[in-house]
Amino acid sequence: MRVLITGGAGFLGSHLTDRFLSEGHDVIAMDNLITGSTDNIAHLAGHPHFTFIKHDVTNYIYVDGPLDAILHFASPASPIDYLELPIQTLKVGALGTHKALGLAKDKGARFLLASTSEVYGDPQVHPQPETYYGYVNPVGPRGVYDEAKRFAEAMTMAYHTYHGIDTRIVRIFNTYGPRMRLRDGRVVPNFIQQALKHEPLTVYGDGSQTRSFQYVSDLVEGVYRLLFSEVVDPVNIGNPGEFTIREFAEIVIALTGSQSPIVNRDLRTRDDPQVRQPDISRARQLLGWEPQVPLADGLAQTIPWFREQLQRRGEL
Ligand code: UDP
Repeated sequence: MRVLITGGAGFLGSHLTDRFLSEGHDVIAMDNLITGSTDNIAHLAGHPHFTFIKHDVTNYIYVDGPLDAILHFASPASPIDYLELPIQTLKVGALGTHKALGLAKDKGARFLLASTSEVYGDPQVHPQPETYYGYVNPVGPRGVYDEAKRFAEAMTMAYHTYHGIDTRIVRIFNTYGPRMRLRDGRVVPNFIQQALKHEPLTVYGDGSQTRSFQYVSDLVEGVYRLLFSEVVDPVNIGNPGEFTIREFAEIVIALTGSQSPIVNRDLRTRDDPQVRQPDISRARQLLGWEPQVPLADGLAQTIPWFREQLQRRGEL
């Protein structure tokens, strides 16, 4: 297949690029490099089946030749990023999805949308099945991301229904691993770096809020299976292993052998979902998928990567 991956120089996009190339497909990675980085695809320079195009997908997308699939992964994805880039976040979810769907229609390509557990907002149902409609504050700090992704899902379904485009929607829960941006402000990069530097781990609020963390290889496998399935309805892909943020801080400290204390910060608590855990019955049933990598194993892959990045920058 010939595959276009928008956001292909990002954390998830670059791992997906690696997977599709390793399966023998041709990959075009497209990225405007606002939050993505060529560091993530530098190892692919000169690869005969890989092309990189620097482009902002909120503008008309031109790709030469046939395309069999488009994976739309372009978007700022961390709360700090979308607070700093609110308009770009809305634009890429709305205009970017429209452009990418238009391209899919033009090329007769299958389209897969990277959606998010944020469509469930601060969920009042726990764990969250795909049938839950969510509890989102459109004008809160996360609204720019949550509503853009909700709009993107609606747009994807409309292209499926009215234009007959073959579409897929993956709702991605918190995912971590090598190539996360050091400064993206999310809990995994923050805690690992703080622990490695023996600085205090900054737990926002009282740390009783929960998240369920999935290692990136599990996400890639889920997306790969979804693309080749016939499932048009949204599918949650995440690891149901749920931890409070306080517990997560303790795990990171233990696994890094750090001397760091834990401090509570009254930061970013507004609109911070209190709980989050995927119900993955649909993925289990329809894709035969479930996560394979426990948190400790995934962190054992991720911590050394962050250590190396910090050493390379002279920060360790
Ligand atoms: N968080 C924290 N300390 C940090 C960064 C994040 O306590 O240094 C908390 C944050 O308030 C949230 C959880 O960790 O409750 C996950 O945050 P993240 O930004 O990783 O992603 P989210 O799931 O909120 O989109």
